[in-house]
Amino acid sequence: MADGVKTKVRTYQNYINGEFVSSASGKTLEVIDPSTEEVMALAPDSGPEDVNRAVAAAKAAFEQGPWASSTAQERGRVLFRLAEKLRQNAPMLAELECRNTGKPIVEAEFDINDTATCFEYYGGMATKVVGYVNPVPDNAMSLTLKEPVGVAGQIIPWNYPLMMAAWKLAPALAAGCTCILKPAEQTPITALEMAAWFTDVGLPPGVVNVIVGFGETCGAPLVQHADVNKIAFTGSAAVGKIIVKQAADTVKRVTLELGGKSPNIFFADADFEAAIDGALFGVFINQGEVCSAGSRILVQKSIYKKFVDAMAEKAKMIKLGAPLDRATKMGPLVSKAQFDRVCSYLELGKTEAKVASGGGRAMEFNRGYYVQPTIFYDVDNSARIAREEIFGPVATVIPFEDERDAIRIANDSPYGLAAAVWTRDIYKAMRAVKAIRAGIVWVNHMQPTYVEAPWGGYKQSGFGRELGPWGIEDYLETKQVYINLNEAPIGWY
Ligand code: NAP
Ligand code: MG
Repeated sequence: MADGVKTKVRTYQNYINGEFVSSASGKTLEVIDPSTEEVMALAPDSGPEDVNRAVAAAKAAFEQGPWASSTAQERGRVLFRLAEKLRQNAPMLAELECRNTGKPIVEAEFDINDTATCFEYYGGMATKVVGYVNPVPDNAMSLTLKEPVGVAGQIIPWNYPLMMAAWKLAPALAAGCTCILKPAEQTPITALEMAAWFTDVGLPPGVVNVIVGFGETCGAPLVQHADVNKIAFTGSAAVGKIIVKQAADTVKRVTLELGGKSPNIFFADADFEAAIDGALFGVFINQGEVCSAGSRILVQKSIYKKFVDAMAEKAKMIKLGAPLDRATKMGPLVSKAQFDRVCSYLELGKTEAKVASGGGRAMEFNRGYYVQPTIFYDVDNSARIAREEIFGPVATVIPFEDERDAIRIANDSPYGLAAAVWTRDIYKAMRAVKAIRAGIVWVNHMQPTYVEAPWGGYKQSGFGRELGPWGIEDYLETKQVYINLNEAPIGWY
């Protein structure tokens, strides 16, 4: 890095116990703008000592201090105030998110709005966490109480940085937990910008700590820490499997939101124009760096040829460009590592299937991690490009014969995060909805996501559900209380 550049970039710090602090080792990591390949900021490269400090602060805040005795109303108001700060600062946050991830500015604006909405939703939910009176026999009263699970470690990916932080922090805080958030090391900036408002909105020290570092050196010690009661993880299935093993020694509660290879199924009777749009949107939004990307496009044979041609023609019109340009529909991939990974799948794809459009690096850019939106067709569902999550703008189109064949192919995957089905036939649509083994099924659309509705996967796409009332469940313990209403001795001895 040139000295001139060094003086311009901002150095971010961790947020621990209500203060911004450098990593214990003083080490930093470089945060890259993927459209220029330049360093846009420095962030702490945290290790076990930083994890220990953050966990100690979160534990103390959970056990003592104002958060431990806060009312649900008070916690709800904190979340509303945080949402307001996000809305007031939305242009700044959207610009940073856009520059750091490479996603188009218009999409980043939607993300910041959704982030604020998530805090508002759980702000309202804080006062709706209720227990039960259990109908037991005997002269007794039996209650079920809901209590916060304690200290929550939260590890998130780089594709929707601030929104993923909100999906984790908002329900945890509504429940009364305290948190240690570890953003992906590629995209830590917006979470740290948000941390600057925590004191103002009424979050006492230690309630939310944000520490930045690599998975192996910062994420792993968080997962293994004995004083962390729960880990909420969003990321790849490969890392999810490591997390479960790491959490076993302390019998930690774990929820996993992992990847997918989601089928987007098109029957011959679907509205053709809407279907082409839906196939492209389903797989190319956010550069295809979407866990629920409709990356397996299943098309009925009678419309298959016409469908592939129409998709390819429209894909060539997708405007790649600078993330901050409002006309841009697709920006660069998030990092050099992701770019290399996607390019290696593009090479593999050429040996496994035919190319309808794209197939390589976008040559019109002399810098930035730009990849052409790529469509492979005549793909067999057993091909690696149909089985492995690529996490980039790469579609695999697979023909099918009939309804039975479509469902068989759709379910023939280790993943089960999401699916979509396109048809005008309500009977066919509902049969598919029931037969598909996935946590989310869309009909005649793909990707709409709402804070009110559950999010999560079947099979190797993980377990646990985020969002909606389901999202708070995993931050709550269930306590059974028995109250004897007999004043006489038990009379057993
Ligand atoms: P990733 O490589 O699995 O990383 C996810 C997070 O885990 C990062 O913060 C990472 O840290 C950390 N990590 C890595 N190794 C670790 C370890 N040994 N112990 C503890 N933490 C560790 O995933 P990614 O590349 O960031 O994100 C893409 C993946 O996320 C895709 O598979 C996608 O499908 C999935 N995703 C799923 C959902 C969903 O809701 N289901 C949503 C979004 C994304 P560093 O990277 O900083 O080292
Ligand atoms: Mg990673």
